[in-house]
Amino acid sequence: LYGRQFITINPRNTTQTCRDCGFVMGTNGTDKLTLDDRNWTCPNCGIHHIRDWNAAKNILDKGMAKLA
Ligand SMILES: [Zn+2]
Repeated sequence: LYGRQFITINPRNTTQTCRDCGFVMGTNGTDKLTLDDRNWTCPNCGIHHIRDWNAAKNILDKGMAKLA
């Protein structure tokens, strides 16, 4: 409609997945992030994430992967 490409992706685990190492929260005995967790530190690689930023990057990656 506005000359942009719109792609749908499966949002599953986009919030829970560490963009840097791919670790998924809720696996390996870790607790899943809740809506109150605005920031978190990946227990696998130790990187600090701002939750929505991390999720947005994951969603972008998924969308770009669909284009490729
Ligand atoms: Zn990580």
